[in-house]
Amino acid sequence: MSVAATPDLMETIVSLCKRRGFIFPSSEIYGGIGSTWDYGPLGVLLKNNVKQAWWRSVVQMRDDMVGLDAAILMHPTVWRASGHVENFTDPLVDCKKCKQRFRLDELDNPDSKVCPNKGCGGELTEARNFNLMFRTFMGPLEDDAAVVFLRPETAQGIFVNFKNVQGTTRKKLPFGIAQIGKAFRNEITPGKFTFRTREFEQMEIEYFCKGADAPGLYNEWVDQRFSWYSEYGIRPDHLRLRAHASDELAHYAAACQDVEYLFPWGWSELEGVANRTDYDLKQHMKFSGKTLEYFDEETKEQVIPYVIEPSAGADRGTLAFLFDAYHEDEAPTGDGGTEKRVSLRLDPRLAPMKAAVLPLSKKPELSGVAEKLHNALRQEWMVDYDDRQNIGKRYRRQDEVGTPFCITVDFQTLEDQAVTIRERDSMQQERVALDKVIEVLRPRITKR
Ligand code: ATP
Repeated sequence: MSVAATPDLMETIVSLCKRRGFIFPSSEIYGGIGSTWDYGPLGVLLKNNVKQAWWRSVVQMRDDMVGLDAAILMHPTVWRASGHVENFTDPLVDCKKCKQRFRLDELDNPDSKVCPNKGCGGELTEARNFNLMFRTFMGPLEDDAAVVFLRPETAQGIFVNFKNVQGTTRKKLPFGIAQIGKAFRNEITPGKFTFRTREFEQMEIEYFCKGADAPGLYNEWVDQRFSWYSEYGIRPDHLRLRAHASDELAHYAAACQDVEYLFPWGWSELEGVANRTDYDLKQHMKFSGKTLEYFDEETKEQVIPYVIEPSAGADRGTLAFLFDAYHEDEAPTGDGGTEKRVSLRLDPRLAPMKAAVLPLSKKPELSGVAEKLHNALRQEWMVDYDDRQNIGKRYRRQDEVGTPFCITVDFQTLEDQAVTIRERDSMQQERVALDKVIEVLRPRITKR
């Protein structure tokens, strides 16, 4: 049974993530630091798998896409050209009494000057614009000339490399560049676990095309990105598209839609897809003095490409996959009863561990066979090995971290050279010859 998207589910997932080693609060022994999180041994595998699934879908399987990994620190003029120095701000108010800080646009009544905290009633300050970019200094001098920014999005690294990439790959329009990387925003109101943090990872695409083709390609990307989430396990009724109203659109954008997910606190953005017109390349031409035009062989004209931008968050995606994977049901116990079972029904392609080898006893004759099988399987995938506690507890542990297949090695194995494979969701078991295990698992783990 999947579990309703309620605030309780949030607590359940945060605690499961901590207990099982998916996500820890950063610098915890020092009391933590606002809104940063560390991905533990299982979390790093899950998030890597999410990023790989994205990369596979938008780069590996397409002829019209290539990848990039640009630097986080960029020339400061990039952020003037992009508009971030001037416009990447949130309006901020402080309560003079309780000192809490609010984003004006998040208050129920933005015109009220009274603190919204229950029982406080303090007076709010005038709104100030707060730039969300982190500033630091390059080199030993901490003066204005040395100011650089931690990138607040990965997109600009793509725009400034448009010519380098197009020139070296000789791609013709339409084509796109994909990038995964860290971005930093000094968010005023971070929170909701890894949903809104100050350091996060983006998975961004800039798809360059002719202006006339942009509306059609925009629709294609919206469809493609929307269906990617359900292909990897998000329930269709937990996903929706929300088109931006014209007053919500950035001044340069011709259209924008968010892919939203039903988080435990309500519908929120997983990814935005925008038709950004030719704004970005034009701005960089203006500020750099360099041409970023593309020569169209067909019309023999120089064009400034339009850009479709699907921009996703790797952390938000990972969190949504975790929420939707969480299931509770009943499993049989050794004495004929049943007990509550928690399982993460992650798509096998996303699951941190693809299988676990569980010898029924620690006796050397069994562990010899089990270790050999483990070594063969780990050549292919991340595979766990566990010989502690009774088999029921070991199944529970693997279910709770989403391992799709448990392989038990028992005394009969020594006679029939076969093992039992148990599938996580159905709990069905089948006997498979030792030398056929990889063959049997491969299509179920890598499913196309
Ligand atoms: P929001 O309105 O939630 O602040 P945004 O519209 O500012 O998001 P974009 O600038 O479109 O976000 O960034 C693209 C994607 O990057 C978002 O869809 C989200 O998945 C991710 N993202 C943005 N800000 C954060 C953050 N503070 N923490 C985690 N992920 C983020």
